[in-house]
Amino acid sequence: MTNSNMVNDNKWVGAHVSAAGGVDQAPVRAKEIGANAFALFTKNQRQWVAKPLDEKTIANFKRKCAALGFTAEQILPHDSYLINLGAPDEEKLAQSRAAFIDEMERCEQLGLKLLNFHPGSHLKKISEEECLRKIAESINLAHQAVPNVIAVIENTAGQGSNLGWRFEHLAQIIEQVEDKSRVGVCIDTCHTFAAGYDLSTIEACETTFAEFDRIVGMHYLRAMHINDSKNPCGSRVDRHHSLGEGTIGWSCFEYIAKDPRFDRIPLILETINPDIWAEEINKLRQFHLEA
Ligand SMILES: [Zn+2]
Ligand SMILES: [Zn+2]
Repeated sequence: MTNSNMVNDNKWVGAHVSAAGGVDQAPVRAKEIGANAFALFTKNQRQWVAKPLDEKTIANFKRKCAALGFTAEQILPHDSYLINLGAPDEEKLAQSRAAFIDEMERCEQLGLKLLNFHPGSHLKKISEEECLRKIAESINLAHQAVPNVIAVIENTAGQGSNLGWRFEHLAQIIEQVEDKSRVGVCIDTCHTFAAGYDLSTIEACETTFAEFDRIVGMHYLRAMHINDSKNPCGSRVDRHHSLGEGTIGWSCFEYIAKDPRFDRIPLILETINPDIWAEEINKLRQFHLEA
């Protein structure tokens, strides 16, 4: 058996798989569902502190990724949910920045290039502008602390005081990042739709991605999260659904699978039923092959 098929395939489709038992288990789980991309947490996502990765786990992770045909560009680590890089409180901000740098260091140790994170929340204590400035500054500090890793900002649904739901927020952050070669964006389809950008028809997708290109720039798109939504467009509520079962529907996912602008970046499922991830991946790949 060879991996040549997958390596030559320009559509990198996978899911956010469990790293239970060690990060080196993640590539195996991704392979089992027919993925040629995957996402993972490199530490417990609900805890501030984790023990450092040990040499053996790092070596096993690298060996399994190489053996199973996953390159660093096909892997999208996600940071902890506790981190708020735009935190109004100085102590919380310092804690978040230290934790983010630790996440970046873990990526660097694992030979990974991307780190996906949610921009941050103003908690109604500071202005949007001030929060976006803090987020950009946090990225600058992380860049100074860790070489090579690209900070991949995920757009949000705009729930509560989370920023990053408008494309303008992403553009404002990027504008204030010094090393633009090490900043990118991950568009989550559920978040985009919940934030008020329609994706429910091909025409709506054309309009939404044209707007993204105009405001942010397609060249900043480094990854995507492929999720349907339980809530309507503009609800500002972040509830994922299985592909085709929610309010977005298959047209959007077929559009992404077929359009070469979404080639050679990780397309990651965070859909609610892991039992059908293999099926969802296969369906996306079939659309790609039909294109
Ligand atoms: Zn996320
Ligand atoms: Zn996401």
